[in-house]
Amino acid sequence: MSEGLLFLIVFSAIFIARIVFATMFFHAVLPNSDRCPECDTPTLRVKSRGWNLLMPWFRTSWCYACGWRGLLRHGHLTPDTTVLPKRERSSPR
Ligand SMILES: [Zn+2]
Repeated sequence: MSEGLLFLIVFSAIFIARIVFATMFFHAVLPNSDRCPECDTPTLRVKSRGWNLLMPWFRTSWCYACGWRGLLRHGHLTPDTTVLPKRERSSPR
């Protein structure tokens, strides 16, 4: 086996392992509920043909309080009675 081929195999293995570990890390970092990662308000599920087709195991979400859009993992859903924007829960003025 030539050194060039060995280098190509090792370099490719490191490159693929880096992609796999980064995917696992970001999957673990994503919240496992419907709460917004920016303001902790329950988000609404939105339809996104591209994301839902490519990654159906994620929940495409939109936060009506702060405008955040992104992907969350399917998990615990907030009951309807507690859905209030965070700014309305703060001190009254
Ligand atoms: Zn938010």
